[in-house]
Amino acid sequence: MTTDRHRACAAEQIFDQYLQSTHRRRTQERMMVLSCSESMKGHFTAEDVANQLQAGHNNVALATVYSTLDLLTHCGILTARHFDSGVTYYEKASTPHMHLVCTVCGKIRDLRDASIDAIVANRRFSSFTPTRYAMTVYGMCGACAKAVKNKSKSNKTISKSQKRK
Ligand SMILES: [Zn+2]
Ligand SMILES: [Zn+2]
Repeated sequence: MTTDRHRACAAEQIFDQYLQSTHRRRTQERMMVLSCSESMKGHFTAEDVANQLQAGHNNVALATVYSTLDLLTHCGILTARHFDSGVTYYEKASTPHMHLVCTVCGKIRDLRDASIDAIVANRRFSSFTPTRYAMTVYGMCGACAKAVKNKSKSNKTISKSQKRK
């Protein structure tokens, strides 16, 4: 059994128990949203899940996708992330990490840094017990930086050729 498959089984068990303990029904739609989100890579939105389900001819109302992703977040299977765009992104709950967000194309990259984890873990907070931390670094990804560089290069070439006229 691969780790992914193993995780998906464990996630199903956790979700089953959560639905039972909160007196919610184990509907086919909810289970479809779960297995779809388990198949997603990296960070994804409710729309991404809805589109993927639709592509597989599994029609689940967007409202159900939203509410199920909320439940999956509550029971700890997914983590919800909020960046500047105002869109909620989800990812499979994993070890704490920070995010590098490109403000040009919106690409999100995970970054693990044990030294920052240690700073938070070893810091004493007055009258406060930390449970987790979130850190986002905004900037420009390599591809966007390259595109900007190429654009300014071609602009220079244009202005040079205009001068010659
Ligand atoms: Zn970018
Ligand atoms: Zn992440």
